[in-house]
Amino acid sequence: MRLSQFHLATSKEVPADAELPSHKLMLRAGMIRKLASGLYTWTPLGLRVMRKVEAVVREEMNRAGALEMLMPSVQPRELWEESGRWEKFGNQLLKMKDRKEQDFCYGPTHEEVITDFARNELKSYKQLPLNFYQIQTKFRDEIRPRFGVMRAREFLMKDAYSFHLTEESLAETYQVMYEAYTRIFTRLGLKFRAVDADTGAIGGSASNEFQVLADSGEDAIAFSDGSNYAANIEKAEALAPTTERPAPSAELTLVPTPTQRTIDDVSRALSVSPSQCVKTIIVRGVKGLVALCVRGDHELNEVKASHLAELPDESVLASEEEIVAAIGTRPGFIGPVGLPDSIPVIVDRDAAVLADFVCGGNKDGTHYTGANWVRDARIDRVADLRQVVDGDASPDGKGTLRLARGIEVGHIFQLGQKYAEAMGASVLDDQGKLATMYMGCYGIGVSRIVAAAIEQRHDEAGMIWTDAMAPWRIAVCVINPKNSPEVAAAAEALYQELTAAGIEAVLDDRGLRAGSMFADMELLGIPHRVVVSERGIAAGTLEYRQRTESEARAITREDLLLLLA
Ligand code: ATP
Ligand code: MG
Repeated sequence: MRLSQFHLATSKEVPADAELPSHKLMLRAGMIRKLASGLYTWTPLGLRVMRKVEAVVREEMNRAGALEMLMPSVQPRELWEESGRWEKFGNQLLKMKDRKEQDFCYGPTHEEVITDFARNELKSYKQLPLNFYQIQTKFRDEIRPRFGVMRAREFLMKDAYSFHLTEESLAETYQVMYEAYTRIFTRLGLKFRAVDADTGAIGGSASNEFQVLADSGEDAIAFSDGSNYAANIEKAEALAPTTERPAPSAELTLVPTPTQRTIDDVSRALSVSPSQCVKTIIVRGVKGLVALCVRGDHELNEVKASHLAELPDESVLASEEEIVAAIGTRPGFIGPVGLPDSIPVIVDRDAAVLADFVCGGNKDGTHYTGANWVRDARIDRVADLRQVVDGDASPDGKGTLRLARGIEVGHIFQLGQKYAEAMGASVLDDQGKLATMYMGCYGIGVSRIVAAAIEQRHDEAGMIWTDAMAPWRIAVCVINPKNSPEVAAAAEALYQELTAAGIEAVLDDRGLRAGSMFADMELLGIPHRVVVSERGIAAGTLEYRQRTESEARAITREDLLLLLA
């Protein structure tokens, strides 16, 4: 590409509404332009990078035996009614009507459409297993679109769906996808981890997320320093403490805490550590309110809580009015002592081994000290309810948990029979009997990967692409081409030679000052740069610099071609 014929629109201005380095740099380099909240245009420059990601994804999916296809992004309501998700998907689903007043949605994902396809196409177990994929635009009406294309409303996803006669066959393909994903993210040069993920409302037996490690990541992941264990913090188990609950030694005493409503304030006022306090959270259960108790220094893990039989899939905190009506006091003063029998008390494993603890007094402006389970407060059930913290024992018994932040770029899932059952997708088995198929689904956030890679690889001057993702591998910068036909001709010849050798090169023939040209190429993160100048031609060399190096060096044409081969 000759830059004089390209649309390059870089800017030195740091965009005011961009928080993350990736978002700022993508705007400054002119890779994306915002159309509306969560909607972005990919410019010719940005698209070059996204297509690189797509190419690696496509190659590895094909290599793993998956078959590419393309489904419509607009989907009829009827299919979503069959799976039960027309309502359940909630406000993320963008719904619309056609001219006949029929309901449609813009696909946020394609389980329904592919299951419909499979039930029509697949008749016999002999056709299985099959794995279909597409690379296609999705729309999700995210509550908080942010960070540019990282959490957009419209984004590009690779989604794959596999079909099987048996669970074992599903597990095999799942493993093949796990390995394909590992190759994809390795080839793209990303630092990532595959972590165990929560299977959520879908159930299913196994799920892994692929997380690109970055401090700005929205996800927290826990990994062991002594084994391969790694999990999304939503899923990471907090092991039961090895100590038993001590016998009560203090008397239950109601003390005034007129203005102290948070654990911090209460523990300071009563001079006890937060780990000696019990925090009580009242949520809406399936049948009425439920009390969840965790230690004062721990956080409730809402995903774990949502798996309790007493709670719906998405539990919601009870409102102040509901709490006052049921318990007679406001949030901040709630505790397990003397709660009405109608409210089940579910206690986290660590909170359950406390004795003589501090908790809310269930009367405005009061707390109890010296509270004890059983003697003073009911425990209906002990469960793992809390978020793990750095330093916890690893759930596999090997090593200690450390926490890191991650950006979810891929998610693989053994769905089992959920969709096939709901939508009647079955084949004849070897006995001639109808058998419901097993399904797996496998997603990759193609557009999100572009931003995630920048989060991991950038510096003051701009982006730093690996060769696999760079818009061009090498920039040929020409100094003063207008004044020196010889220089212009040499640069053109080098550009032609690189291109003929299959090396993607960009010729900066815009005639800018060297400084501006170099600043642009650094902002764009082109991995290699050569400068063609009068001085170099006289010396028979080119000035070469790698994006990650601080110094340029002289190199011959031959060595340059060898280096890039
Ligand atoms: P998240 O937890 O980040 O919302 P998700 O669990 O909803 O993601 P999946 O349904 O597993 O996402 O979708 C597959 C992949 O699509 C994700 O791993 C992610 O990389 C990408 N993705 C999901 N939502 C968005 C979005 N709003 N913008 C960009 N990419 C997204
Ligand atoms: Mg996910």
